[in-house]
Amino acid sequence: MKKFYVTTAIYYVNAKPHIGHCSESVSADTLARYHRLKGEEVFFLTGTDEHGQKVAKAAAEAGKSPKEFTDSVVKPSLELWKLLSISYDDFIRTTDERHIEVVQAVLTDLYNKGEFYESEYKGWYCGSCEAFYPKNQLDGNTCPECKRPLEEIAETNWFFKLSKYQDWLVKYINEHPEFIKPVSRRNEILSFLSQPLQDLCISRPRSRLEWGIPIPFSKDHVAYVWFDALVNYISGIGYLKDKQKFNKFWPADVHIVGKDIIRFHAVYWPIMLRASGIELPKTVFAHGFWLIGKDAEKMSKSKGNVVDPFELINKYGSDPLRYFLLREVTYGLDGAYSEAALVSRLNTDLANDIGNLLNRTLTMIEKYYGGKVPSPAGTKDAVDDELKALSKDLPGKIDASMAELDFAGTLASIWELINKANKYIEVQAPWTLDKQGKKDRLSDVIYNLAETLRIVTIAVSPFIPASAEKMWGQIGMAAPLSGARFSDMEGWGLTKPDTEIRKGAPLFPRIDTKAK
Ligand SMILES: [Zn+2]
Repeated sequence: MKKFYVTTAIYYVNAKPHIGHCSESVSADTLARYHRLKGEEVFFLTGTDEHGQKVAKAAAEAGKSPKEFTDSVVKPSLELWKLLSISYDDFIRTTDERHIEVVQAVLTDLYNKGEFYESEYKGWYCGSCEAFYPKNQLDGNTCPECKRPLEEIAETNWFFKLSKYQDWLVKYINEHPEFIKPVSRRNEILSFLSQPLQDLCISRPRSRLEWGIPIPFSKDHVAYVWFDALVNYISGIGYLKDKQKFNKFWPADVHIVGKDIIRFHAVYWPIMLRASGIELPKTVFAHGFWLIGKDAEKMSKSKGNVVDPFELINKYGSDPLRYFLLREVTYGLDGAYSEAALVSRLNTDLANDIGNLLNRTLTMIEKYYGGKVPSPAGTKDAVDDELKALSKDLPGKIDASMAELDFAGTLASIWELINKANKYIEVQAPWTLDKQGKKDRLSDVIYNLAETLRIVTIAVSPFIPASAEKMWGQIGMAAPLSGARFSDMEGWGLTKPDTEIRKGAPLFPRIDTKAK
């Protein structure tokens, strides 16, 4: 059986999750659901990054111990993932013992292999970004990232000899075009690697930071939070603990990450793996950000423009939010967020297009056939062939766009069929066929619509899973949707005549924009 292993980045718990996190989780979830639908054995890992200075600081500000603080922050994100139907197989926290042990084992192994050396480091440090900046990158004494004042610090630390892997990594990236996606990020990394690679400081002195994983060979240090965090992708599937599971799922098929952390995933992580003798992930895919307002700003706590996902879900529902996040942006680029755009997607694509197709079809099945799908009568019309041809092409289109994580493109292909079916209703005018007594033609038209709905429901199920489940019930399918397979979309005519529909409330009620 084919396997598929997908991860999100693990979210840093110094603040509550925002729609950027939702977007990443929803896209990974959609990908996982699509591969399950294909009949593959899927592992979807997500979790939280809980060590480091920012967490220690946020905990101190909240008057809690770091562990108490992280526990209190993890809870709302677990609730959020439940609301958003995020179907992860495991949730790893970097404070889990199973993770800490693996980080320490990886550190010890690389130490024994002579990959680390101890050295005094002197440099300009930003406590907020937890980063040192070389003098030549500085304009005065402020942090180039967050503009806060920098401190000059001298300390003894452990360094990882990244430089000796530089030529290998450049060659690897050049020979594996699928390793870093999209291509703009690949170019960014190759350009970064055209300069000499600095060795990576993988420790922090305990005198400055206690909240981290102790380094086994150096009692005065804890692990650098990024070294710790990246290891989650292997500790989460049982590296050194559950050989069978690890061998089944590793290498990861795709790490989904934000574009701001691509360097950690496309430079440091592959070198850590290479030095440890572990295979590299197949693809690291970097998505963009959701920008907000007319100045297209990044959401941030300090700007006070953070969108609260709980509020949105409460107001519009979980699937409309999922749909918007997946449909509104070309995955990999930045997207423009606004509530008006979300409402417009809900009213147009969901209420008008898919919602209407469902309601109109079910209403006609009730009206003309007492709530049971009619048997096809075998009349012929060119528009039937057009509808069937579009439906026949759909699985191939979905496979092609999902291979590129093109969620918006996949939805556009599905909506092409939905819109065609709505047009089919207009053109065929079943109400006229009924008046004219053209019973055979009427039953063919209605059957074709029921069959299109069955195919559409399977197609949208990775994107709007809760709604698809309801649609599946409404169109009268007896077996659970979870048992449906991608290949069920490929055959025309699988809806059994006499299937009893169960029309319910409209799934996507229109939002009245005038009332506000
Ligand atoms: Zn900074």
